[in-house]
Amino acid sequence: MKNRVWLNEAIRKIEADYNRSADTHLIRVELPHHPGITLYLKDESSHPTGSLKHRLARSLFLYALCNEWIGPDTCVIESSSGSTAVSEAYFARMLGLRFIAVVPAATAQPKLDAIRFQGGEIHMVDDPRTIYATSSQLAAQTGGHYLDQFTFAERATDWRGNNNIAESIYAQMADEEAPVPAWVVCGAGTGGTSATIGRFIRYQRYDTRLCVADPVHSVFHRHFDDPAITALAEGCGSRIEGIGRPRVEPSFVPSVIDRMIAVEDADSIGAMHALTAKLGRRVGGSTGTNLWACMQIADEMAKADQTGSIVTLLCDGGDRYSSSYYDEAWLAECGGQWAGAAVRAGAFLTDG
Ligand SMILES: *Cc1c(COP(=O)(O)O)cnc(C)c1O
Repeated sequence: MKNRVWLNEAIRKIEADYNRSADTHLIRVELPHHPGITLYLKDESSHPTGSLKHRLARSLFLYALCNEWIGPDTCVIESSSGSTAVSEAYFARMLGLRFIAVVPAATAQPKLDAIRFQGGEIHMVDDPRTIYATSSQLAAQTGGHYLDQFTFAERATDWRGNNNIAESIYAQMADEEAPVPAWVVCGAGTGGTSATIGRFIRYQRYDTRLCVADPVHSVFHRHFDDPAITALAEGCGSRIEGIGRPRVEPSFVPSVIDRMIAVEDADSIGAMHALTAKLGRRVGGSTGTNLWACMQIADEMAKADQTGSIVTLLCDGGDRYSSSYYDEAWLAECGGQWAGAAVRAGAFLTDG
């Protein structure tokens, strides 16, 4: 037996942290122009590290620990554009492990600050496509372990339950007028969240469909339409952090997705600003992408005289985007025609 004493203690620390935590809220949003249709936001910003990646990081660490891939002296490495690394740094510190995040040089400064705040180190690469190879190299050099969110996200989470995000959503919906949502809408970065929700829906035999909202400049929705397309030669040109990828990640499971909606970045950003105004607090860009797809689905349901619930994810808050989506100069330069989209999304959310 290897160091079972250390392993037991490491798992106990993660479980104890979980045991001290509350579940994330499910926020109900009335849609004044869509009678009989209600929108719900699963608020993943309320995790200790501020995003849905908190769940993923916990699962990846437990998976690696139970596989004995991580020991007391293991340097832990991840390829991450930010949020995953923030959450993983939190768990690495909890276990007293060194953590290095391999990030593209273009990553927003507040995200780098958040990784360092949680005790993580940063390794920058100029070409975003090299983050995987660089992470493997670093792991080999340090004798460390590459967590590899893009490979392991779909299998590290218990899809049948164990309070995964899907089980939590359905439990929190129990006393609503329409407890089984007609649609669940989420994005895909690793693809792990959509894999977990899609499998859970089928396992529980729920009459819910899963829609993945994807940036136009991402490969996922193209692959969904044509499986022969597996990468974008030009890279992913999307400005929506956390979702949309230039290559089809191993954790993306298209077979459990019923539909994909491609969303322009400007529409995501406009919807994000409208939701921020509605809730009175800042949300992140991928939440705007989700909302834009929900608007389309709500309109289609209304046209078909359908009523029911639509559940989507508030993936993270807006604090980490103060120098991008919430910066006037950035918006003017990179935001595109976001203002018109904000007006449309605002009209969807309010009775004005
Ligand atoms: C990772 C991420 C997503 C997508 O979740 P996956 O489970 O990785 O597909 C959406 N929004 C934000 C902000 C993210 O960080």
